Amino acid sequence: MLIAGCGPAGAELARLLARRGVHVLVVEALPDLARAAFSSAALPLAALERLEIPAAVVAHRWSGWRLLGPGEADRHWQASDDRPLGAVLDFTALRRWLAGQAQGFGAQIALGWRALAVQQPAATGLIRTRLRGPGGEEHWLTSRWVVDATGQQRGLLGDPPADGADPLVSGLGAEWLLELPLERWQPWSDQLTFLLGSDWMPQGYGWVFPMQPGQLKLGVCRLQDDAAGTGASPQAGRRQAPLGPWLEATLARTGLAGARVLDRHGGLIRSTVRRREAHQRGRLIGLGDAVSTANLLGGEGIRHAMASARVLAPLLLEALEDEPERLAAYPRRLRRELGWRWSLSGRLARRTWLGLEGPQADRRLEGLLAGLARQHSAEDLSALLFDYRFERYGLRALPYLLGWRR
Ligand SMILES: Cc1cc2nc3c(=O)[nH]c(=O)nc-3n(C[C@H](O)[C@H](O)[C@H](O)COP(=O)(O)OP(=O)(O)OC[C@H]3O[C@@H](n4cnc5c(N)ncnc54)[C@H](O)[C@@H]3O)c2cc1C
Repeated sequence: MLIAGCGPAGAELARLLARRGVHVLVVEALPDLARAAFSSAALPLAALERLEIPAAVVAHRWSGWRLLGPGEADRHWQASDDRPLGAVLDFTALRRWLAGQAQGFGAQIALGWRALAVQQPAATGLIRTRLRGPGGEEHWLTSRWVVDATGQQRGLLGDPPADGADPLVSGLGAEWLLELPLERWQPWSDQLTFLLGSDWMPQGYGWVFPMQPGQLKLGVCRLQDDAAGTGASPQAGRRQAPLGPWLEATLARTGLAGARVLDRHGGLIRSTVRRREAHQRGRLIGLGDAVSTANLLGGEGIRHAMASARVLAPLLLEALEDEPERLAAYPRRLRRELGWRWSLSGRLARRTWLGLEGPQADRRLEGLLAGLARQHSAEDLSALLFDYRFERYGLRALPYLLGWRR
């Protein structure tokens, strides 16, 4: 079994399969899992428990939400008794821990190796993968199955058709890891802070997340609809606009200017909203972000990527027992795992973020947030943003949230 990509999805699958005695090789393009730690890695508490993520990987726990904006609005929700609602992980530590677990069960992990392409010779029951090593050397590797866990790059499966009814929606994110004195860290340390409104970030949002004492993550993300970006639409021009100036402005406006920048990273989230793309091409199967398990509403995908591995692992074990037809159930089971609210959350993300530009959009967002602040607790906000329980907001509001009515 060959797995391309040692992110949360690939490493979790390697761990689950190796534990059951499968011979697993993971190839990972990064030469070191500490490089390109692009993810902010905020998770709800329930996910930590369900995925058995150890405390050593947790950078900080948080127990509230703070929403700054639109304009000067500042709203805060705190969990009852300051109970933790979630955590921010150290993404490098998570990847290393998962990889170490997989290796402990016998999986091999080859760093610095990139999977380039696959060939599926007819009637052999095998698949060949072209790999490029750290020194530029190339090899073909033959296996029974290959899993594309290369994240949003979809290195082997490729993108779903651009002209499809369910195009990819991208979010470009950039984040700085800041170091600052404890007294400046403290006010940000117990909550996830989101910066909302088109003067903070048009067509997106910003955030400040707590890491270990004295460290914060400050980031911005802007969404774009790839279908809109392919033509000569106004969005196409914005595609290249750098996020650096927005980060600088966010640093100044949050009062965090002067903090030492320890690391700068960023990346893309790219998912379809309805997730109808092919999950399998012969003996090649997609996993995690490669099959759109990153959620566009909160830019969140670690737990969903790991959950996709948990859905795929038992089916792959059956396929390895010469029951390849069992894999046909994979897309359906993954959809069930992600829940019926999933595509609603994607539609809401498109409507909220892509439409967030100008005073009218800010006013609409302001109205939604004022409603939230009046009636809802920190736990409700977590249910909304992590479980996508929009009905708690009031079913009558749903058509407005989704743009069916204005
Ligand atoms: C700026 C930003 C902030 C985010 N914040 C959060 C957050 O707060 N919470 C959260 O849950 N999620 C967050 N996410 C999303 C989350 O990080 C991803 O959904 C998650 O990492 C997906 O896991 P994955 O294993 O599917 O893919 P990835 O984590 O992308 O892993 C894919 C791996 O494959 C490797 N690779 C790529 N191409 C090849 C190739 N051809 N051959 C071999 N290896 C290859 C890559 O180097 C990478 O290590 C964020 C994403 C971004 C961009």
